[in-house]
Amino acid sequence: MSTRPPAAVVADRHLALYREFHAHPELSNQEHRTAARVAELLRSYGAEVHVGVGGTGVVAKLHNGSGPTVLLRSELDGLPIRERTGLPWASTTDAVDDHGRPQPVMHACGHDLHIVALLAAVEGLAASRHDWRGTVVAVFQPAEELLTGAAAMVADGLVELVGPVAVVLAQHVMALPAGAVHLRTGPTLSASRSLTVTVHGRGTHAATPHQGVDPVVLAAMIVVRLQGIVAREVAPGRFAVVTVGALHAGTSANTIPQEATMEVNLRAEDRIGLDALTAAVERTVRAECQASGAIAPPDVVVTRECPPTINDEAAVARFAAGLAHHCPDVVVRPLDFQSASEDVAHLADAFGAPCCYWGVGGTASANRDQDGAQPPPTNHSPLFAPDASDVLGVAVPALTAAALSWLAVVPDPHP
Ligand code: ZN
Ligand code: ZN
Repeated sequence: MSTRPPAAVVADRHLALYREFHAHPELSNQEHRTAARVAELLRSYGAEVHVGVGGTGVVAKLHNGSGPTVLLRSELDGLPIRERTGLPWASTTDAVDDHGRPQPVMHACGHDLHIVALLAAVEGLAASRHDWRGTVVAVFQPAEELLTGAAAMVADGLVELVGPVAVVLAQHVMALPAGAVHLRTGPTLSASRSLTVTVHGRGTHAATPHQGVDPVVLAAMIVVRLQGIVAREVAPGRFAVVTVGALHAGTSANTIPQEATMEVNLRAEDRIGLDALTAAVERTVRAECQASGAIAPPDVVVTRECPPTINDEAAVARFAAGLAHHCPDVVVRPLDFQSASEDVAHLADAFGAPCCYWGVGGTASANRDQDGAQPPPTNHSPLFAPDASDVLGVAVPALTAAALSWLAVVPDPHP
């Protein structure tokens, strides 16, 4: 009996599951149908299943004797995007978001593929219990797109429920060549922080600007001035992003409003970099408020924060060795540092465990456009349509091999 994971040929039932999840996406924290289906399948594999962890989160434990515990994580949520892939199983789903607004919903980030990959890995490991010892923990988390779901599960007692784990493992389909695992050591995904900045002017009639302090002009100055932080204060070659993603002020043409609000997003390799960017934003905002004669100091409030995803060097080496041993057909390519953020790092931090996170290429098929001029659609595009066979053909054996890299493997009695 071999410990080799399932062959890279994707089972029809897994492709059917992917199409089912893809056709029924749900918004963050509303993943009720998805979670129920995931829990039902996990029970059918013989796992101990816990539902409602951190909202709609699902935790499955596959106990198999004494040995290490490995944590494998998938996200559950879709995005408020109207799908335009034209796939036969494209989503036509509509939902109402937390603010009561109607929204289309699409699995535009590939979380549907992650769900199926983790389900298939658990199914495969459950069917090959004689090959390994230990405990496999599968975590299906809500609200990754809000970067809040992992923290919600931790706050709801995930660490106490699971106990110590040897490693936190996760993967993400990316707009990179298919057929490969894309892997790096050290900083892998950016740390991010969101700020709400409110500046206080003095409202007046649009015809008498000299009697007020115009927060629209002040906010415009701040938006332009903030662009200088990355250009002039961050060393060339260092990763940093400052984006003003929202700017709100005023209600009519003939009134100078009282205040303006900006939503600012910062990205850096680590918390030190985030702190430096935050300090530069605060300094710039305060100085511009003073320059404009704002009637009160600005309010700068941190509204969301996500730690960096840092791949543990030893964990990456162990995973790479496991991949080479269990599925030598899977190509491993170097992964560039990603400017996106992920909240899987919350799990690694909470468990005090090393993290290993890798990309699975998903663009080869989507990239076969005729003229070759268009780049392949990326995650969060309404056209994002990675080939499920390409992705799952790598994602399932890679995740299985990753788990087996930490579990106690039973020696083959008939080598
Ligand atoms: Zn996403
Ligand atoms: Zn994602």
